[in-house]
Amino acid sequence: MDEKKLLSGNEAVARGAYEAGCRFATSYPGTPSTEILETVLREYSGINAQWATNEKVALEVGYGACLAGARTLVTMKQVGLNVAADPFFTISYTGVNGGLVIVSADEPGVHSSQNEQDNRNYAKFAKIPMLEPSDSQEALEFTKYGFALSEEFDTPVLLRLTTRICHGHSVVYPGKMQDPTLKEYKKDWRKRAMVPANALARHPEVEKRLCNLKQASESSPLNDITWKSSDVGIITSGVAYFHALEAFPQYSILKLGFSYPLPEAKIKDFTSKVKQVYLIEENDPFLEEQVRALCPSVEIHGKDLLPVVGELTPETIRVAFKGKTGIKKGLAQDALRRLPVFCPGCPHRGSFYLTKKYARVITGDIGCYGLAALPPLECMDTIICMGASVGMAEGFSKVRPLEKVLGVIGDSTFYHSGVTGLLDIYFNSATSKLVILDNSTTAMTGHQPNPGSPVNSRGEPRGINLEALVGSIGINVKSLDPLSLKDSARELEQIMNSQSGAVVIFKSPCILLPEVAKNKKSPFRIDQAACVNCKACLKLLCPALEAAEKPLIREFMCAGCGLCAQVCPKSAISGVKAQ
Ligand code: SF4
Ligand code: SF4
Repeated sequence: MDEKKLLSGNEAVARGAYEAGCRFATSYPGTPSTEILETVLREYSGINAQWATNEKVALEVGYGACLAGARTLVTMKQVGLNVAADPFFTISYTGVNGGLVIVSADEPGVHSSQNEQDNRNYAKFAKIPMLEPSDSQEALEFTKYGFALSEEFDTPVLLRLTTRICHGHSVVYPGKMQDPTLKEYKKDWRKRAMVPANALARHPEVEKRLCNLKQASESSPLNDITWKSSDVGIITSGVAYFHALEAFPQYSILKLGFSYPLPEAKIKDFTSKVKQVYLIEENDPFLEEQVRALCPSVEIHGKDLLPVVGELTPETIRVAFKGKTGIKKGLAQDALRRLPVFCPGCPHRGSFYLTKKYARVITGDIGCYGLAALPPLECMDTIICMGASVGMAEGFSKVRPLEKVLGVIGDSTFYHSGVTGLLDIYFNSATSKLVILDNSTTAMTGHQPNPGSPVNSRGEPRGINLEALVGSIGINVKSLDPLSLKDSARELEQIMNSQSGAVVIFKSPCILLPEVAKNKKSPFRIDQAACVNCKACLKLLCPALEAAEKPLIREFMCAGCGLCAQVCPKSAISGVKAQ
């Protein structure tokens, strides 16, 4: 056994895949799952790893690799599984060849997502077994076990993590790498080609597999009981296990690591030996509903006391079950939240300065530009899901053709699922306008490459020409510089007044890209004598601008984008070197 290491759950999943002999891994980045593939790319070169255009594509590519005989890892955040749901449900029927582990990284407390869904429901819905680690060591072990389970039962396996498992660090004892053999590929169209007759024939096989998995869950060491006081028996899973342990160290605990399908006999036996049961889990009453149905005569408390919203803490659990007051029921204690703003020099600042001038309704999308929806900017009307801005702008303009409606989407999100909406705009002769904020990267999740980036995950030059791509659909397209306000404003106004569909590409790289950051421009400064304190520059909401008696620029923060100089009516702002 190698030396112990301190790893995050995400790093431990990557290590587990490596030790299991995984040969292929793919993902679309999304918090809190991103670092799994980043770790594979950085540390395990034996695994053929790559970023995908979206989660559905990731699962389809991963499934192809799995059928070809490779143990395969596919990772995504919780809402990503919605995108991948179509193949996810069907590959439950078609089974695997090399083991397939699909990671869903859920976000109780929604730190960076558009909803707080509990993806344990997907396992039950798709009849796929699910494993839920509680710390990094288990993240490693459960990943390895997941591959073995997948091959033994001919099924994809869902490894469900949550934010605290993904990002929390704990001690891990890494093991040795298993031989990454490629399994033989055998044709079997009756099993793999899901025309209705074959799908109907496969469904009973899936039900049979579920019964067998129940047996495996009964005997699995991942479902473990610690006997203490029988006054209360706690049933829990994932990170909630540690919170429950801290809140009630005196009570017996059934910890479910193999949490779908449930070990029904073990649960019945456990509940029969305690006076009452506490079901401690974050978000939905996923375990509770099943346990209540299994043990109708047992006194069970769970979501009648615990919140379904947000993350749990030992304190919220203690208070919920012991009936103390003082903490707002229904919400976990929130850390102080501060509204984030665009970075100094971010090109999105210029893009939104212009778009809010010429559009009355902006349908937005997922990415760091979503900050434009928040106060004080508040210039984005909607954020629904990846790619929705495009179709929503089309729908809105079909009903209100005279309204100035604009869809706004980032480049990575456009490739993810915006491009199909754009095809619809052309196909249905819509007049809607779309802005693509092309900063050459997937900025929000930490600069993973996307099909428009100059190079792919392996450093091979593969950048797609976005302008040519959009133009090839037959839609008018214009590339503008969001840091050049006057010229871009003129063009944008013209486009917004036109009666045909159009795409504007605001092209400027993310200020935090290493190649941009290393060529940092000189800062700007305000000539206090020339400044008339009109505060026009402050409306840009650049963190480098300070609202003092008269506005000041914190030069150490200034990225030298020059936007403030362009909006100053008195030419009071200029580059430091130019003075
Ligand atoms: S030039 Fe002005 S707007 Fe740009 S980063 Fe500096 S202070 Fe902010
Ligand atoms: S826009 Fe120019 S004049 Fe107005 S407050 Fe800023 S620096 Fe002063």
